[in-house]
Amino acid sequence: MSAANSTSDTNTDDSSNRHLNFIEQEIEKDFQLPKLMGKHLSTRFPPEPNGYLHIGHAKSICLNFGLAQKYHGTCNLRFDDTNPSKEEQEYVDSIQNDVHWLGFDWDGLYYASDYFDQLYQWAIDLIKVGKAFVCDLTGDQIREYRGTLTAPGKDSPYRDRSIEENLELFERMKQGQFPDGSRTLRAKIDMSAPNINLRDPVMYRVLRAHHHRTGDKWCIYPMYDWAHGQSDSIEGITHSICTLEFEDHRPLYNWFCENLGIFHPRQIEFARLNLSYTVMSKRKLLQLVKENHVRGWDDPRMPTISGLRRRGYTAESIRSFCDRIGVAKFYSTIDVTVLENSVREHLNQVANRVMVVLRPLKIVLTNYPEGKVEWMEATNNPEDAGAGSRQVPFSRELWIEREDFMEEAPKKFFRLKPGGEVRLRYAYIIKCEEIVKDPETGEITELRCIYDPDTRSGSGPAAERKVKGTIHWVSAQEGVQAEVRLYDRLFLNEDPENAAEGGSFLDNLNPESLEVVTAHCEPALAKAVAGERFQFERLGYFCADEKDFSPQRLVFNRTVGLRDSWTKIQAKDG
Ligand code: ATP
Ligand code: MG
Repeated sequence: MSAANSTSDTNTDDSSNRHLNFIEQEIEKDFQLPKLMGKHLSTRFPPEPNGYLHIGHAKSICLNFGLAQKYHGTCNLRFDDTNPSKEEQEYVDSIQNDVHWLGFDWDGLYYASDYFDQLYQWAIDLIKVGKAFVCDLTGDQIREYRGTLTAPGKDSPYRDRSIEENLELFERMKQGQFPDGSRTLRAKIDMSAPNINLRDPVMYRVLRAHHHRTGDKWCIYPMYDWAHGQSDSIEGITHSICTLEFEDHRPLYNWFCENLGIFHPRQIEFARLNLSYTVMSKRKLLQLVKENHVRGWDDPRMPTISGLRRRGYTAESIRSFCDRIGVAKFYSTIDVTVLENSVREHLNQVANRVMVVLRPLKIVLTNYPEGKVEWMEATNNPEDAGAGSRQVPFSRELWIEREDFMEEAPKKFFRLKPGGEVRLRYAYIIKCEEIVKDPETGEITELRCIYDPDTRSGSGPAAERKVKGTIHWVSAQEGVQAEVRLYDRLFLNEDPENAAEGGSFLDNLNPESLEVVTAHCEPALAKAVAGERFQFERLGYFCADEKDFSPQRLVFNRTVGLRDSWTKIQAKDG
């Protein structure tokens, strides 16, 4: 399924619930219950700091923070930092930055590691009531004993250790008396439970790894399932919203809360976002970075929040994308054009128009006085009357796009051709009189044209003589040069993970995802600031690169073309 709207599960039968998604419906029902009466909604966004946030996380952020806003509740940012070997401060910092940039602020900032002492105490409580035991099976053995979906598991031979022995061994695990991986603490639930997550799941493992916050204090670390629900409970989270792959973990989440007798949040699952032409797992994104297929986590081709930002996406456009796709209970893939359309729509409203020539061809207006410069009035943004106008210099020598001229043009080509006329945007109608070519290569080096002085734009009805085409241009003398990075999709396939037998998603990389050109820009662009966004007329939306742009070195990134060219290409190919 690729249409955006058809994926959301919204209730349309009950008029009072008309605009509620399925999570909102559940929340509103829950707050009718005595347990939550008088309480406020409390959610959290719980990233593991093992990579940069991506557009899928944006969906979870918009959902969790959005619900808190809608219901006047709270939303925490909690780092799920139970896996020290993969986590780093750089990721913690980037995550906070990205959440803020998206326009959200957390009520509490927490780390699962804040709760390591409490979790340890609770583990002891479970041992004391005979509901947890120290197990000496190796990882492989545990897997072997676990059984399968169709066959029950077998009890661990260590399952019936006495409470005293378990307490002593667990204490010694904590003190570092056993090698990594040699022992675990496991919940004693049911080795024949149909749900494999309930077959005596591991709560702690021995792992000597330096933790970015707790340092070397611990050599046992809690597993995700043992840490997550309890962290939610400690923070008084009422609704713990997560992605569908945790649905099977919900009975365990509930078991821990019930058996500890602590506040019991409700876990609700929704389908994770998948986007066509994109990979989203942090492991794969990390691989792209580490193997230099891209230039870092914030490479404008990455689906990370920082990459999208650098590409020129606005926070508004990402939020409206998340709104548009809604939340659903079933997996689907959203077409990446839905994301691209969101930024197009927003930038159409807010980006000022400028003229830039990406692949220049020189024009000389033989009847235009040498040395003369006229300043042409140009509208900054026809969608925004408040954006005003600017003056663009016009002179005898100009650049136009090479592809706006054709020597042997088909009938329907309404741009410039030998003997043909075209209007230069905001300026005059010109006529091509002569083609100059490099005698050796035959390449066109210059067009000699004449302009019609009576056709200056805006100078009265007589000037508005109609010609079929209008093209953009830049004055050769007054224009400024810029490096323009023409980004395209990083992958050639709709489903990059779907590689040929024995291959990898890397085989599907688009070798032409970046082309760099030296462009000629109207002089106003020399005054741009890093991060500023523009519409380059007739070409697309571009932004001044947030890292590399400076007044001495103009660097622009293409965010997205004006129209969806991929759909056209595919239609032609197909
Ligand atoms: P990945 O599989 O990309 O590594 P993850 O689920 O391990 O992601 P976490 O840092 O654990 O990443 O995710 C933080 C929160 O964001 C979780 O609640 C998770 O469910 C949610 N999330 C992650 N990926 C997506 C996605 N593609 N769509 C929606 N929510 C997501
Ligand atoms: Mg995770």
